[in-house]
Amino acid sequence: MDGMKPVVIELADRLENPGESLALAETVALDGYSTGEKDFSLADGVSYDVVLTNAGDGILVTGIVRAHAQGACDRCLEPAHFDIAGEIEEYYLFEEPEDADAYEDGFELVGPERTVDLSGAIWDAMVMDTPFVVLCRPDCAGLCPTCGANLNEGPCGCETAAEQAWVDSDDNPFAALKNLKLDA
Ligand SMILES: [Zn+2]
Ligand SMILES: [Zn+2]
Repeated sequence: MDGMKPVVIELADRLENPGESLALAETVALDGYSTGEKDFSLADGVSYDVVLTNAGDGILVTGIVRAHAQGACDRCLEPAHFDIAGEIEEYYLFEEPEDADAYEDGFELVGPERTVDLSGAIWDAMVMDTPFVVLCRPDCAGLCPTCGANLNEGPCGCETAAEQAWVDSDDNPFAALKNLKLDA
């Protein structure tokens, strides 16, 4: 996955004065994204719903990013679906600040032609809202650690075999009982 193409908003003569704001909602074509460790595919791209505000020394972008994602279940590796609704909050300064360290949350810059590129903020919002554990269903039974069978499709027999082995073993404190004959 090669990341995301720029999502460039041309401000042109909009938002020229502090306090002015502009609402934008759009869907961007994107096949998938990655959290670095895992890849996810997107069926319908990613949509954003944001408000851009001239905050004096830059453009503040706030809003929400939504997508319907698919990845592999962390327990059974079958497809797992989930919805993303991630928050965007990104600051695009008009000029490179002298006190860059003062911007604890970081910043981007407004382009020379009065453009802002939302792609980084959209990507970050998706990654932030991606569940740490992705499951095909909340009670996914996972794979058998012994034989690898998908336990959602039914018991594989390993556990029963293991239990039986324990019942038969001398480690079982009740082992002696099985030879006990109860005379009525
Ligand atoms: Zn699963
Ligand atoms: Zn098994």
